[in-house]
Amino acid sequence: MPQLNSTIPTLFISHGSPMLALEDAPTTKFLRGLAAQLPKPSAIIIASAHWETDEPMLTGAVQLETIHDFQGFPKELYALRYPAHGNPELANRVQSLLTASGFKTGIDPVRGMDHGAWNPLLLMYPRADIPVIELSVQPKHDASWHCKIGQALAPLRKENILIIGTGNLTHNLREAFRGHHSETPLWVTAFAEWVAEHAAKSNIADLLNWQTLAPHARENHPTPEHFLPFFVALGAAGTPLQARHLHEDTALGVLAMDAYAFGN
Ligand code: ZN
Repeated sequence: MPQLNSTIPTLFISHGSPMLALEDAPTTKFLRGLAAQLPKPSAIIIASAHWETDEPMLTGAVQLETIHDFQGFPKELYALRYPAHGNPELANRVQSLLTASGFKTGIDPVRGMDHGAWNPLLLMYPRADIPVIELSVQPKHDASWHCKIGQALAPLRKENILIIGTGNLTHNLREAFRGHHSETPLWVTAFAEWVAEHAAKSNIADLLNWQTLAPHARENHPTPEHFLPFFVALGAAGTPLQARHLHEDTALGVLAMDAYAFGN
């Protein structure tokens, strides 16, 4: 993993199914080993695909509830808790940074963490001893909007605050649940390869236009919310962008589980 430089990188993580934390999958192993390769963060800001709002929202609670925002999974999954503290003071600072960049932003004093956030954090930082703030995504806005959110947060990296986007590199759930994918279909690998190629070249302009330029964009993201956190992480890394492709795997046949680190 990249010691991209002395400043902590930002991350995009594919979180897959809520079962991730209980599985013995390649992505589970990858996430268990990821924290050891990073400086220990002073706090974590995590933008999750599972919190959709019209304007950017932040969690402001002192103690974050573990939200089990899924149905029909085994009992042991509902028993999992991620008892991280929030950081209301940091939430206020993030709000100020976003306001200064022209965003209308709110702080939710009650909301906890959805599985898009707590599932990977449980694997990365199982002691839950780092304060966390969750940030929402705005699916009615595009990649550039989310990149700009990331850019507003970029100064926090100097304070060793880890900025994570959590979604999925590809996310066609209908195809995933239909099953019968003995190998990853070409429409999935073509999209994942396109992202990898443009990330490697730091081609931000093309990445921001993914809905037009990437092959099979609509098929891989019938709705965009699981790819938008990628752009929060990308924006927070600043420029010149350096991307590292940290991990790839496929879950349920069609969910690309790629992870990236971004720095400058
Ligand atoms: Zn998800």
